[in-house]
Amino acid sequence: MTNLRPLALVPILLVALACEQKLSPEAQAAQDMAKSADQRVAMLEKELADIKAAKEGRSLLNWIADIRVGGPSPFRREDWSKQGSVQDVLKFFTDWKFDWLDVPGLISQATTVYEYPLMDREPFAAWTDGRATLLGDAAHPMYPMGSNGAAQAILDADAIAQALVAEPDVHKALERYEAERRPATANVVLANRQSGPERVMKLADDLAPQGFDDVENVLPYAERLAIADDYKRLAGFDVASVNAG
Ligand SMILES: Cc1cc2nc3c(=O)[nH]c(=O)nc-3n(C[C@H](O)[C@H](O)[C@H](O)COP(=O)(O)OP(=O)(O)OC[C@H]3O[C@@H](n4cnc5c(N)ncnc54)[C@H](O)[C@@H]3O)c2cc1C
Repeated sequence: MTNLRPLALVPILLVALACEQKLSPEAQAAQDMAKSADQRVAMLEKELADIKAAKEGRSLLNWIADIRVGGPSPFRREDWSKQGSVQDVLKFFTDWKFDWLDVPGLISQATTVYEYPLMDREPFAAWTDGRATLLGDAAHPMYPMGSNGAAQAILDADAIAQALVAEPDVHKALERYEAERRPATANVVLANRQSGPERVMKLADDLAPQGFDDVENVLPYAERLAIADDYKRLAGFDVASVNAG
């Protein structure tokens, strides 16, 4: 196994933001991404700030560890909801101890761990066969970056419902649905191979492999925001697209 490196622990970093003012570069990058790209995180921060257990550091956390491995994967492909063990994850994060967050300590306390290999497929050439078509993961399996996957499935459902209402002929309705959604989701599949908006973290790391005190000197806010905004437009999450829908 070569080139083994942890990339991101986004939910952990974001939860820590609710409790801590002093931000590490990693937390700052995560906070910037959260501000610009993910409403769900903003809600989580508010909820955490409001509840007593969170204030006392006793929240039940759902964390995700995103691990990229070079060479042959030590994990089984295409086998999800497989139960793993704390040790499977812990070994990648033993040195992730910060003065504001003890990641190995947090991982050690997990009662259940699941392993999800990140898999996608080349965008398909067609989705529809007669009166049957695809939507959601069946139509466009993608890396779960940028809060996508389920979100794209919801956009598919909206598009297919609108096409069926507008077009009395089912075949034409499905043609219309596929023409709208297949190219749009293919773009997201391809963008997610580059980590979607989360690529700001890798970019900052590439630009300053030795670390940095202030992310602003490495990857200014305007550039991070532009990456997030571009992705929102591509995925159909930008304000104009949402209001138009
Ligand atoms: C760890 C992880 C984190 C994720 N985070 C996000 C996120 O933050 N935001 C986001 O938008 N997306 C996220 N996703 C992706 C999201 O979960 C999927 O994109 C979404 O669930 C796809 O919905 P779907 O309805 O197309 O497919 P599924 O949710 O897979 O539903 C398919 C259903 O069909 C059933 N089924 C399968 N075969 C048969 C059969 N032969 N007969 C009857 N039923 C069958 C399955 O049991 C399942 O219930 C994440 C995924 C993972 C694994």
